[in-house]
Amino acid sequence: MNWLDEERQRRDAGQRRPLLQSQHELINSRYPGCTLERCCECDDPTGRAGRGDDSLYTDEGDGPYCYDCWQGIISNARLDRTGTAGKED
Ligand SMILES: [Zn+2]
Repeated sequence: MNWLDEERQRRDAGQRRPLLQSQHELINSRYPGCTLERCCECDDPTGRAGRGDDSLYTDEGDGPYCYDCWQGIISNARLDRTGTAGKED
């Protein structure tokens, strides 16, 4: 058993960890879709590959988000900042 099988077993057990893009490719070439990253909001595939890659996380560390949910988060954050900016003394 090599590390690919071990990673598969970890994920089957619900233990996920950040992987490099090259590692995702190796795992998914053996187990298609195994390390597919899903949005924490809507559970759709994010199409991205992990925190160390280009995944979408908030400054608070929430995520990963798909692009659609990310756009919603970003625009809400902008509204929050705009909404409070004028209320300061
Ligand atoms: Zn989403």
